[in-house]
Amino acid sequence: SAKAAGRGQHRFFDEAMNQAASARLARESDLRHAIGHGQLRLHYQPKVDAATGATSGVEALVRWQHPVQGLVPPVQFIPLAEECGLIKPLTDWVLEAACHDSRQRLDAGLPLLPVAVNLAAPSFADPGLPDQLLAVLARHQLPPGSLVLEVTESLLMTDVDRAVKRLGALRAQGFAIALDDFGTGYSSLNYLNRFPLDELKIDRSFITDVALGGRHSAIAASVIALGREFGLRVVAEGVETAAQAEALLRLGCRQQQGWLHARPMPAEALVQRLRAEAAAQPPAVTAL
Ligand code: C2E
Ligand code: MG
Ligand code: MG
Ligand code: MG
Repeated sequence: SAKAAGRGQHRFFDEAMNQAASARLARESDLRHAIGHGQLRLHYQPKVDAATGATSGVEALVRWQHPVQGLVPPVQFIPLAEECGLIKPLTDWVLEAACHDSRQRLDAGLPLLPVAVNLAAPSFADPGLPDQLLAVLARHQLPPGSLVLEVTESLLMTDVDRAVKRLGALRAQGFAIALDDFGTGYSSLNYLNRFPLDELKIDRSFITDVALGGRHSAIAASVIALGREFGLRVVAEGVETAAQAEALLRLGCRQQQGWLHARPMPAEALVQRLRAEAAAQPPAVTAL
């Protein structure tokens, strides 16, 4: 009968939902285990001065070295971590690893290089964050200028007044703030004016067509001009071709990040890159 068929369908959906729920639970406990058992890795992508090729900073990007699935990209586990309360231990791990690697580079005689760390909304909102940042820096004997905090517009827009206060407090402690993926969120220029920032990262979607001129490059050109007006460092994300890099240089955007310049790499590869750079051109400032 139709009623029986309906019940059968219910059972089917219930089962499908149960399976989805238990798959999620399994993934959650997998991730919890990964964080606690050394399966996370940090890769570093250089920010490059495209006019000289010099590395001006790096961004720390987390990966999950899964025993079965191999190297899992962050889009596949950051959202889950945010949902199931694992973002705190994940961010703790990222900050610790980033500062540990910074200390190792300094001890190896390399100059201090600012490391950008991406903050998810719950981490930015965590009232313990400023003290935590100071503690991890102190543990590794690093100055506050060694960390850049990357946040997104949508994260700031959830509570603008609170975000303005939080950004101000972090900057007062010496941390630099970068607005990531700029142009993809919903913040108005009015808000941009209110947020105390150091760096504006133009989202990759605006860089793709920058070499084509006309309408395509108009947005990138405007953001670069705007950033300059506001006294911000402007970084172009996702630069993949020499034509894009040159078009950006013509627009006055020297700070670039993307596969053309360098892919994200493990800490040891970064050390080699910086050694090669130092050998080619001795640094003007003494290492700390
Ligand atoms: P994001 O912060 O905007 O990072 C830039 C992403 O673009 C990175 O992907 C990077 O590998 C990729 N990329 C860089 N250059 C190019 C290029 O020339 N072409 C293309 N197609 N892609 C390029 P990834 O490493 O997969 O990270 C994705 C996102 O995951 C990041 O976007 C960031 O929002 C988030 N994420 C990464 N690490 C962390 C972390 O430690 N904590 C948190 N909360 N989020 C993180
Ligand atoms: Mg980022
Ligand atoms: Mg970005
Ligand atoms: Mg992006």
